[in-house]
Amino acid sequence: MSGKKRIAILGGGVGAITTAFALTDDPGWQDRFEIDVYQMGWRLGGKGASGRNAAIANRIEEHGLHVWFGYYQNAFRMIRRVYDECTRLNLAPASPFKTWLDAFQPQTAATLWEKRDGQWTPRFSRFAIRPGYPGDEELFQPGAAPPRAGDFLTQLLDWLIQECEDIAARLDSRPQEHKLTSFLEKGLHGLGLHLHGAEDLAGYRFPLLHIAHRLAVCMTGAPAPAPQPSAAPDEAPDSWVGRLVGESIEALHKSVEGQLNRSPSLRKTVEGLDLAAATIRGMIADDVLNRGFASIDDCDLREWLKKHGARYWNSAQVAGIYDSSFGYRKGDQNQPNMAAGSTLYQTLRMFFTYRHAVCFRMRAGMGDTIFAPLYLLLRARGVRFHFFHRVANLALSADKRSIEEIRLDVQATMKSGAGDGYQPLCEVKGLPCWPHEPLYDQLAEAAELRRYNLESAYTDWHDRLPPRILKAGADFDSVVLGLSLGPLPYVCRELIEADPKWRNMVEKVETVQTHAAQWWFNKTNQEMGWQNGEALPENERALSSAFEAPLDSYADFTHVLHAEEWTPEDKVANIAYLCHALSEDEPMPAPFTDAAYPQRQLDRVREYARDYLRNKVQPLWPNAMCAPGSKEFDWTLLADREGRAGELRLEAQYTRANVDPSERYVLSVAGSTRYRLPSGESGFDNLYLAGDYTLNEFSAGLVEGAAISGLMASQAISGKPECIYHSKLEAPAQPAAGAPEQHTGIRQFASGVTGRVENVFASLTKRAAKPPERPWVLFMTWRDLLFASWRVPPEIIRAKVPPELELDTFDGSAWVSMVPMSVTGMHFRGVAPIPGIEALRELNLRTYVTRGGKGGVYFLSIECPAVVSDWMAVHFFGVPYLRAQIATFNDGTTYQYASERVQENEPPAAFFGSFRPVGEPASPTPGSLEQFLVERYSLYFVKNGVVYRGDIHHDDWKLQPADVTLAVNTIPKAAGLDLPAKPDHLVFSVETDTLIWLPVRDEHASTATL
Ligand SMILES: Cc1cc2nc3c(=O)[nH]c(=O)nc-3n(C[C@H](O)[C@H](O)[C@H](O)COP(=O)(O)OP(=O)(O)OC[C@H]3O[C@@H](n4cnc5c(N)ncnc54)[C@H](O)[C@@H]3O)c2cc1C
Repeated sequence: MSGKKRIAILGGGVGAITTAFALTDDPGWQDRFEIDVYQMGWRLGGKGASGRNAAIANRIEEHGLHVWFGYYQNAFRMIRRVYDECTRLNLAPASPFKTWLDAFQPQTAATLWEKRDGQWTPRFSRFAIRPGYPGDEELFQPGAAPPRAGDFLTQLLDWLIQECEDIAARLDSRPQEHKLTSFLEKGLHGLGLHLHGAEDLAGYRFPLLHIAHRLAVCMTGAPAPAPQPSAAPDEAPDSWVGRLVGESIEALHKSVEGQLNRSPSLRKTVEGLDLAAATIRGMIADDVLNRGFASIDDCDLREWLKKHGARYWNSAQVAGIYDSSFGYRKGDQNQPNMAAGSTLYQTLRMFFTYRHAVCFRMRAGMGDTIFAPLYLLLRARGVRFHFFHRVANLALSADKRSIEEIRLDVQATMKSGAGDGYQPLCEVKGLPCWPHEPLYDQLAEAAELRRYNLESAYTDWHDRLPPRILKAGADFDSVVLGLSLGPLPYVCRELIEADPKWRNMVEKVETVQTHAAQWWFNKTNQEMGWQNGEALPENERALSSAFEAPLDSYADFTHVLHAEEWTPEDKVANIAYLCHALSEDEPMPAPFTDAAYPQRQLDRVREYARDYLRNKVQPLWPNAMCAPGSKEFDWTLLADREGRAGELRLEAQYTRANVDPSERYVLSVAGSTRYRLPSGESGFDNLYLAGDYTLNEFSAGLVEGAAISGLMASQAISGKPECIYHSKLEAPAQPAAGAPEQHTGIRQFASGVTGRVENVFASLTKRAAKPPERPWVLFMTWRDLLFASWRVPPEIIRAKVPPELELDTFDGSAWVSMVPMSVTGMHFRGVAPIPGIEALRELNLRTYVTRGGKGGVYFLSIECPAVVSDWMAVHFFGVPYLRAQIATFNDGTTYQYASERVQENEPPAAFFGSFRPVGEPASPTPGSLEQFLVERYSLYFVKNGVVYRGDIHHDDWKLQPADVTLAVNTIPKAAGLDLPAKPDHLVFSVETDTLIWLPVRDEHASTATL
């Protein structure tokens, strides 16, 4: 025993190789680990693998077109370091790529296609160059993290303001946007904001947006951008921001709608503004600011945008997102589906967090630029690679808690007898590359192997050679599962049987097959008539999406021509890459006995390509037709060394159907995020997960998600790297084993409750009030409570309280309190948190009563989100729960609280205030007003003359003196109470755990007198 941990990494895609990179990115790693990578077939890269076709000019053949976005901070950091180290160690002496900037080319322009009145038109966008480069080291300092939801909110507002003002200035129009309800106006006045004629806003065409921005800044705690017309208000209204934004965009729309048809660029901007406005409204309404993006992943993005008022939810901008992410279930154009939170997060990261350029192209194949240098470096560091090893099965230990055995199909052996010593790379123009097929001259089984595709599951070759069995303890200690999601149902059968979380993951996180085409033309893109609508920046080439299916994403890849070996006679002047999701015309024929399936699918996508060139490419390349005005594609444009005629020239091009389980793209469909597992929490002791199918801040199929996952796997194994640039995610939890499927709560609230219940009971032993004999039913934690209390003449409050209850008084007065709070961890006894209401906000207006000598509270109103009010209305009938939109923000010292009632048939009512504790916490003094207000263990309500009592017990109170600023408070008024603006008494409590018993009929006789 060497004492080193032996790590078996299965697969060699972005996820797996990132783990290998991170584990070995430490000079002393070989003292701690031995690392073996097992990869089926002859190359690394997975979906990002590419191959050089030596028979045809060493052209690059990809799985599909790949670009890296400028926000891929982790992936870029790794590749930058790989290039630095490869160059330092001189691992690729003849390579033309010495630094990462040699290997990548920035791209700032993109085109989306839009079909209007039967015509396809390009809509061109340009993204500014920004400071820095992706992967800059400063992003990996302790504490650095991507922007939070609230930061994106203010950035969206900044952008909205700038674009709206620009449009209005350009068109010299001042939209009529000030149609506020008087209620809203009053509230704004309360906040010290004056709409009409206010000096600070007078210069703006969209004052409402500026107000919205200020309010959003208050909500999120982000610094307000310059210029700041006046001090920001203390309060933090929520839906107001949404309303203000909505009104502004509506006003803008009205003022420009006559011109939208005439100006595609104006239409594009207005559509973008509309989508941004819906995003802002949705993020606030769904409390994404506090609950995170994953909390809206149960909804499809288009549905979510629609729900939040987007007029252009189906525009080219949205279509482009779906198309470029293959966001179609079963590849069916009629089943677009992308989880709202994950997709929105990616989109916001793309717009607001890129460095230098919005995206980057690789200047050769992805295999050549990414996986070849990674392979060379990892090999130099001491990682052992085992090609031609196909994972067939993971077997569990007897107690089903860890991986006991890995069965590998050995696909080929070395001629030299050198065991695993396969040398996988070839060199093209000095660049180390992967060939598009195995280097057969090294393989003993070469003659036979040429007939099989070793990357395909649809072959019976796998059992020809004796398998290799790896045993836990002897051959490995830990396993990193870097296979893609597609093969897991076949390779991980035992895990899926043993753990329902695994079953959920493989069933709920869907994948889709894709197809791709690469065409080499003998005329340039410009000669073929490509038009962006505007001139492309120098050194940039067409990059487009949202065009016609079945090949809706197109990019000009002529920038890789320099890396291929065409001769002048080949006359290649232009390379086109296209790809799209591939519809499933027949169920995937697992268990892979139908060896003809891949060929059938390839024939199908070749037919798509033929039909596409025949019938669909005219808008892309109007000059690629046989004659001006003709719609017949000129097949002679396709380069073909064999000089075939007409459509047959397509045979010289590259077409690919990604139909193998491992090639299937991992989707993020609505409702699936919760079923992903995090890299470090596989559920099995020695198993870690690396790949884009795991739970991470993106939870989607993209290189950065796979890289983060690989880093997280390494971190779970070795504690390294110390810094990953990502947002830590609290995932929506999966249902407990055996529990009926339901939406469950946020993970942190589901754990650690038992001890807290015991604490409540411990506090109870010191109290005179004893808990009921019956079992409690509901647990919750009340957080950040303010008790704002007013002294009220008893005769005024008497009229509001049913005669069956006796008013309780202190100091000769009745008291009314407003109690804004947050509630977390709400769950039934023994049951997972309640769907959608495990964390919420509540604001109650109460007075104090007794019955049969037992003190309690009587609620005049309880504002809470609809999901709670509706549920409570059924279960706590008779308690006045009212629907409201509530938002809070805690900047560490001050609590901002904004509530606006939205209950039908009830008077409007709102509360906007901020409060903060101003003294040390202490227990309430016996006999004090504090004790009178907070030590209440029953709530009473009366229904049809019957009095009901709900018992409540909680932890000991720790109260602090408090300050409050109330900008708007119309809730008492709505309950028929005229209270002074300033409360008579204020206390604050950080938190208390609470147990609630179901209400019962209170059998005491009424002693009400007043
Ligand atoms: C057509 C297409 C275009 C894309 N374009 C982009 C893009 O532009 N930008 C972007 O960010 N992302 C893009 N993606 C997504 C990106 O490619 C993936 O997110 C990423 O490559 C996933 O890496 P991974 O490590 O999770 O999985 P994979 O790349 O699938 O890696 C899995 C690894 O496991 C190996 N393997 C599988 N089965 C076995 C087995 N039984 N035994 C041994 N080894 C096995 C595979 O060979 C591979 O090495 C695209 C995907 C596709 C399909």
